Amino acid sequence: MSSKELLPRLHLIDDEKRFSNELSTYISDKWDLKDAGFNYNLAAIFGSQSTGKSTLLNRLFGTNFDVMNETARMQTTKGIWISQGKDMKALIMDVEGTDGRERGEDQDFERKSALFSVATSEVLIVNMWEHQVGLYNGANMGLLKTVFEVNLQLFGGNLDFGFFYEKTLLLFVIRDHVGSTPLANLSNTLKADLERIWQGLSKPEGLEDCKISDYFDFMFTTLPHKLLQPEQFEVETQKLRNRFVDSKDPNYVFQPQYSKRVPADGLHVYAGAIWEKIMTNKDLDLPTQQELLAQFRCEEIANAAFVVFKDQIKEFRHPIEAGHLVEGLGPKMKEARDVATKSFDKDASRYLPAVYQRKRTEMLTKANSMLESYFVGQLKNLHKKAVSNFTTQLQQALKVEGTEFGKAAAKTKQEAVDFFLKGAKAIKLTETDWEYEEELYQFENDLEELTTVQREKELAKMLTGLEKLIKKELDEPVKLALDQPGPGMWGRIMTTYRRTSEDAELLLKKKAKTFELKEEEEEQLTVNLKRQSWVLLTMKVQEESVDGLILYKLLNRFEEKFQRDSHGLPRVWSPTDDIDTPFRKAREETIELIPLYAKINTLDPVTDIHLALESSDDFDFDQSLQVLSETRQQELTTQFKRKADASYVEAKRSVVATQAK
Ligand code: GDP
Ligand code: MG
Repeated sequence: MSSKELLPRLHLIDDEKRFSNELSTYISDKWDLKDAGFNYNLAAIFGSQSTGKSTLLNRLFGTNFDVMNETARMQTTKGIWISQGKDMKALIMDVEGTDGRERGEDQDFERKSALFSVATSEVLIVNMWEHQVGLYNGANMGLLKTVFEVNLQLFGGNLDFGFFYEKTLLLFVIRDHVGSTPLANLSNTLKADLERIWQGLSKPEGLEDCKISDYFDFMFTTLPHKLLQPEQFEVETQKLRNRFVDSKDPNYVFQPQYSKRVPADGLHVYAGAIWEKIMTNKDLDLPTQQELLAQFRCEEIANAAFVVFKDQIKEFRHPIEAGHLVEGLGPKMKEARDVATKSFDKDASRYLPAVYQRKRTEMLTKANSMLESYFVGQLKNLHKKAVSNFTTQLQQALKVEGTEFGKAAAKTKQEAVDFFLKGAKAIKLTETDWEYEEELYQFENDLEELTTVQREKELAKMLTGLEKLIKKELDEPVKLALDQPGPGMWGRIMTTYRRTSEDAELLLKKKAKTFELKEEEEEQLTVNLKRQSWVLLTMKVQEESVDGLILYKLLNRFEEKFQRDSHGLPRVWSPTDDIDTPFRKAREETIELIPLYAKINTLDPVTDIHLALESSDDFDFDQSLQVLSETRQQELTTQFKRKADASYVEAKRSVVATQAK
């Protein structure tokens, strides 16, 4: 390469923050470093804009980075340029700085570029004017702080794992050195500043105690004013150059410990990956001025809209919490939300669309979550109200004679569900994920339960009614039959029972239809009813068989036979009459009735079959047939005999009395 020829340079990271994909081509073709392995160096420069960085690099390394035009004073191309040093196995990066005063896009780029330089270079030249020393902003110390901090965060962690961390050399070049302040003083000031910066860093976990010297070495030098002392400037620049090219120079900078140990042919991958990591780390992003403004204003506008919104919706809270249904709640909530978004849109839509949209969504979410508690509350109240409507309406309907339970329940339920759904749909706002399905499900369950309870009640009522009917149908015929004891007595009672229970069954079947009973339910009820009829029957029998009554029945029967003639007329005994024979006959016949009373005979004379019911835990059929126990039969016999004997004596006496007249 001839010395006249311009050294090829590459726009490594362009003004759009894109990493060049030509680095590997440049390394192999233009700079002939493909096979250099570790045998090459990488340096970069860092500093404020227009501090003569590019000028210095071109002087030191024979590069041809753009130098700011003296007359036009336009800023040179943004980004990072990379070039090979003339006749050197060194790559030099020229990083375009800013004046660091303006926030926003430029600063974001600046800190990322600086971070990239620190992370990749062995030597970072920190370029500054002498008068910047000791000035925080002017000397880019603020930026250095950020770069240290993020560098530690992103790449400092490997200290933890005990790896060898490649230090970076920070070479401070103090420009336009007048000479009145010796280098030693300047460097002390800088060192103290750096130490202070390091103390103030927020360090990642585990690295709280790390020292600046774990990561960086420092070197300080000065250069005279290029225009005012051109010769000295030339001499000093050459001396400085020697530090980069002469490994025997005591201040030689490319010491092996600074090498990042990346072979030249892999540099493009390594550097690209570091840039990628820097670019994808959101913590590093600095919002642009426009973003900051949009965030601030949209936030303010949203807050103002929200105050109005909250004021508008607060009136719903009380009634809902008190369990009332707020009339027209859905449209009212929507109205409040619309007013808020409209007022937000009016002012906020003028700002950066991405920020405006994000804030709008945030506000909508916040509004929705406030409204959701009203939605949920109103749903609960709707549920309660619909349940109570259901109960009263069903009861109302059942009061009407002839109402069929099944039909009435279904109709009332449908009405309640419609009421709930109508209310629920009316309060579900668009652009929400609110749901009422769960509440509906619970509500329907409640209706189901209430229906079951109500049905049980109605069924019980119906059965009680049936039993009353049965009792009415049984009582009279049973009493009559028992009053007329004789061979056909039980037969008559059995016939009555069969007829009654058949009637009852028919009636039950008819009623059961209105309850929409299942077949097995109906069967069970029929069995129960049959048994209940039987129990009613036996109860009547027992009632008619209490001590006095049965004795009375027996005596009636006896008197009929003994004291009445064949025409049923009262007998008047004459002295010639045989009293003893009819007395004995009547007494015998009556005593024979006692065992007849004692046990129900289940033979039905019409069907000629014995009636039988199945016994269960609380019902013993055989037991139910017993009317009089052995002992009671004996007692009855004795009691009866005593009364009968008295009748006999009475009859005898009446004869004697007639004779005496
Ligand atoms: P950069 O933006 O830091 O790269 O600065 P440039 O290298 O583009 O130089 C900016 C201006 O400073 C140019 O007009 C240079 O001529 C001028 N300049 C370069 N070196 C020096 C120097 O040592 N002292 C002074 N005072 N001006 C310099
Ligand atoms: Mg420059």
